[in-house]
Amino acid sequence: DTEAPSDGHVTLVDLPEGALGKAGGHKYVSGHALVLTGGSGRTGAARMAARAALRSGAGLVTLGVPGSAQQEIACQVTAEMLWRVDGAADLESVLEDDRLNALCIGPGLGAERAAELVPVAAKAGRALVLDADGITGFSETPEELFKLLHDNCVLTPHDGEFARVFPDLGERLNGPLKEGPGFSRIDAARIAAARAGAVVLLKGPDTVIAAPDGRVAVHAATGERAAPWLATAGAGDVLAGLICGLMARGMEGFEAAQAAAWLHVEAALMFGPGLIATDLPEMLPEVFFELG
Ligand code: AMP
Ligand code: MG
Repeated sequence: DTEAPSDGHVTLVDLPEGALGKAGGHKYVSGHALVLTGGSGRTGAARMAARAALRSGAGLVTLGVPGSAQQEIACQVTAEMLWRVDGAADLESVLEDDRLNALCIGPGLGAERAAELVPVAAKAGRALVLDADGITGFSETPEELFKLLHDNCVLTPHDGEFARVFPDLGERLNGPLKEGPGFSRIDAARIAAARAGAVVLLKGPDTVIAAPDGRVAVHAATGERAAPWLATAGAGDVLAGLICGLMARGMEGFEAAQAAAWLHVEAALMFGPGLIATDLPEMLPEVFFELG
C-alpha cells in the first residue's frame, strides 16, 4: 500500500478555533495529560514534554515515573504531579481514572519501556501522542503498532524515526538532505497515516501533518517565518507535549497537531536565536497573549 489514499487538497496550517480555551469550568474541564518518563538520568525529555502540555492549557499534567527516577524527578518539578508507573499493570490501574484523557509516550522512554506501555495506552482508547522511542520501540514490528492505533493517535517522527517504522517510504523520502525522484514529504506522510490508522506529523524545517482519511496540512517555516534555531535538542519533545496538552483540552489529533506545529514555531520566532528547548514552553503565554 504505497498509493496515496486520496488526492484531497493540502491546506496550510492555521490555529484552529478553540485553541485559546473556553470560559468557565474547572481544571478537569481542561483535561488531564499523562506523560511517561524514562528511568533515572533519562527524564529531561519527558519533563520538557510535560511542561509544554501544562503551558498549552491542560488543567492537570502528571508524569508517570518508574521507581528508579522518582526522587530525581521530585526535585525537578513543581506544577506537574508525579505518579509511579513501573510497568503495564501500573499503567492499567492509572488509566482506570477516566478523567485522564491524553497520553504522551516516547520522549526519553527507552525502547523496552515503550514496547511494554504503548499497547496498554492504545487499548485504553485515549488520545495518544507517540514520539521518539514510542515510535522506534516498534522498529521490528511496525504492523503490530499499527494494529493498536486509532484515529485519535498522533505519531510525531522526524525523518530517521519515520524510516524506522515506514522503511519503504523512508528510504525514498525527500527532505532537507535529499531531493529527487522519491516520495514527496506530503505523499509519504499521507500514505503513512493511512497505513498506521493514525495522524502522522512528519517533522523537519517544514512540517507535514496527515490524517488517515487523506487530509494533509503543511506548516512551511520559510521566509520571515523561518526559525532554523528551532532545530535544537529537545524541541521535538516539547512539540509532542504540546500536542498532548491540546488533545487533553479536547482537540482532535489532526487539529491539535496543526495548532501545536504553529505554536511551536511562533514561540521560537518570538524568542529568537539562542533558544533552547526549555525556553519554548515558557514562551507560550506570550504567543497566546498576542493572539488575544
Ligand atoms: P526532534 O528532532 O525530535 O528534536 O524535533 C526537531 C524539531 O525541530 C521539530 O519540531 C522540527 O520541525 C524542528 N526543526 C528541525 N529542523 C528545523 C529547521 N531547519 N527549521 C525549523 N525547525 C526545524
Ligand atoms: Mg525527538
